[in-house]
Amino acid sequence: MDCNTMQTLLHPYLDGELDLMTSLQVEEHLRTCASCELAYQNFQVLREGLRDSALYFQPPANLEARVLSPMRRAEAPRRPSFRLGSWRRWSTAAVLLVAVGLSWRLAHAPAPLPDDRALEQEIVSSHVRSLMGSHLADIASSSHHTVKPWFSGKLDYSPPVDDLGAQGFPLIGGRLDYLNGRPVAALIYRRQKHLINLFVWPAKAGDSNGAGETKAMESQGYHLIHWNAAGMTYWSISDLNPSELSSFVQLYQAQDQPPARPASK
Ligand SMILES: [Zn+2]
Repeated sequence: MDCNTMQTLLHPYLDGELDLMTSLQVEEHLRTCASCELAYQNFQVLREGLRDSALYFQPPANLEARVLSPMRRAEAPRRPSFRLGSWRRWSTAAVLLVAVGLSWRLAHAPAPLPDDRALEQEIVSSHVRSLMGSHLADIASSSHHTVKPWFSGKLDYSPPVDDLGAQGFPLIGGRLDYLNGRPVAALIYRRQKHLINLFVWPAKAGDSNGAGETKAMESQGYHLIHWNAAGMTYWSISDLNPSELSSFVQLYQAQDQPPARPASK
């Protein structure tokens, strides 16, 4: 079984929907493939996170009474002869409302998101997930000599890892994550109390190189900066204010330049 097939089978596997033979093949693959095992674990964490009761809103106890009491008042008959007609009118109105509601929903079914918007949301979820539990870093270290080699063998590329501690953005560690349908490197940096996730993966063949030109956006209260450079795609995200996040990106980009060649003698 290959990793692409695994991607389509992970959700049904988690939901217990696969037959025995396929389940066994999935388990066999999970034992031997670190990146699919990681995707599997991430899905599990996400499912558990969604079960968290803190995410569900408990309505106030008197909500039902508050909604129903004006309706009961309206229902109370003023004149018995009026009641049946009124009820008929209300039921017609209700049927119409449902019909209007249905056609509105059909007309306004959410359009598929363009790639970047969907990816942006994936990045926000991933950032939030990394802050929620204990899974911020797989390798916790402030040294790029430790973090960079940790990724080798886990990814088929080597993310540029720089320690920006001297510039006020200490490296916290690294983590394997799963974004855009592939395992990616997540580097974690800190600015005072704010954490920055920097996701790095190889750019697609068609992606413009961009030469480091950045695109800033805001989503769900987080600031994101995206750029492509030297064949890699970068997404940084934080609750840090935009100007400091932008300084971080500039510092990272500056480190990432190939070292200047020593002047020849
Ligand atoms: Zn795999």
